[in-house]
Amino acid sequence: MPRRVKGSKKGEEQEIASERIKILFDLAEKAAISKKIPLADRYVKQARSIGMRYTVRIPKEYRSRICKYCYAYLFPGITSRTRINSNKHRVEVECLRCKRAIFFPYIREIKAKRRKKFSKVATLFFQKEPE
Ligand SMILES: [Zn+2]
Repeated sequence: MPRRVKGSKKGEEQEIASERIKILFDLAEKAAISKKIPLADRYVKQARSIGMRYTVRIPKEYRSRICKYCYAYLFPGITSRTRINSNKHRVEVECLRCKRAIFFPYIREIKAKRRKKFSKVATLFFQKEPE
């Protein structure tokens, strides 16, 4: 437990909180690798309660590792099954505990493609000389 510094600002507390969340997710990963699933779930629970207490959001890279329905720690091949659905442009993660699927659309990639297309159209448009 980190000591609480007297007169520390809220920002500092949140920094400590997010640091602890990171540590807990690291521990959860290690626990999942050694197949200690209940332990991994407990770390996730702790990380979530820290996040709620200090109003720190779980970082994006970790959010996809928790089942949003039962909060199980998701580890591909052990507690979850990951698939890519290219038709629907999303990653589908199936939680093996509650059997529900969580979708992670890869919108950013689609948007990037769209932007590229748009800039191409724009250049064509602006290159057109009035006759
Ligand atoms: Zn689940």
